[in-house]
Amino acid sequence: MSDGTDFEEEFPPESRPELAVDAEFALLLTHDVDRPYKTVQSLYHAVRHSDPRQLKGLLPGVNPWWQFEEIMALEDDLGVRSSFYFLREPHLLAREPGDWLDPFYWVEHAGRYELDTPELLDVIDRLRDGGWEVGLHGSYDSYDDPDRLRTEKAVLESALGGPVLGGRQHHLNRGSNTWRYHREVGLHYDASPGSATEYGFQQGYRPFRPFDDEFVVFPLTLMENALPDPGEFPEAAWQVCEHLLEEAATNDAVMSVLWHPRLFAERDFPGYRRVYRRLVERALELGAWVGPAADYYGLMDHPERSVSKAEPVSEPQTGSAPESECSDSGADPAESDGGRSGDAKEADRSRVPPSQARDNKVKSTANTESTG
Ligand SMILES: [Zn+2]
Repeated sequence: MSDGTDFEEEFPPESRPELAVDAEFALLLTHDVDRPYKTVQSLYHAVRHSDPRQLKGLLPGVNPWWQFEEIMALEDDLGVRSSFYFLREPHLLAREPGDWLDPFYWVEHAGRYELDTPELLDVIDRLRDGGWEVGLHGSYDSYDDPDRLRTEKAVLESALGGPVLGGRQHHLNRGSNTWRYHREVGLHYDASPGSATEYGFQQGYRPFRPFDDEFVVFPLTLMENALPDPGEFPEAAWQVCEHLLEEAATNDAVMSVLWHPRLFAERDFPGYRRVYRRLVERALELGAWVGPAADYYGLMDHPERSVSKAEPVSEPQTGSAPESECSDSGADPAESDGGRSGDAKEADRSRVPPSQARDNKVKSTANTESTG
């Protein structure tokens, strides 16, 4: 569902950076790593679809949603790379007690994973060494919590052994200060604005710079969930993709797509893998530059960071220590209370672009097959 924010109006085409590559258009390939392990979902699918075969997902050694190797092989075969955004969610019991009995958080928690297990560290190493981007998938509440976001970034950078350039928020959440927080913790881009149910270029054909500096926002053109089910309607799903590619080519666009890794599990989600392959093949045929968001970002010309109209108050001092690590949270009340105090929120709103003032946090009531 679109939140109705009109970035096309707020950041008109003439204010946006030109296509940064010598190509017909650019296609950014991204994967939000929500749930690499099929756990309670096996039981859920078995019951909901009366399909006891789903229970095989619970057998030791069988993990149908672990699709990293398949995606790497597929993209290697196509000669492209992509972005993988990793999620580091807090434990359920680390939440407010009021959340403990909320089924929404049970489902979120059921798929939770740690970044420092041997198999996750290994896959992150192989992605990095193979030329894929490892980016941050900010957890459900991190869009409005800079300390949490900072911690998640640090944990991922520790696993990666290097800096993380950008990422996307889980469930595409966005609040009045999300981009400011991203920027403050050292992220250089956000790829969140978009929809789980609508596809298209409603947010414009090219990325934009909300602070007129090097921080870039890449709108999401297509999440796989928004397609007609390619298992039942493969041609309809393909038509959507082909039309978007042609529209991108006609308009020198930077198009971006999100395919969740588990959707490459052919038995559980038939058709999605095939459409993805065809999408990339067709983009290359049309003369597109295809790759990870970080690579595209690296090809752009960037202005120096400047104190812009959007951020007169809490610009971090360059050259000084980071504003606060977790041990020092609360050092700046305007920061830590920004999401809770009504007055602080109003003050914040007065100094951010108006569209960001609309809270776009999504709480799905049918989240068992989450598309965030
Ligand atoms: Zn997500």
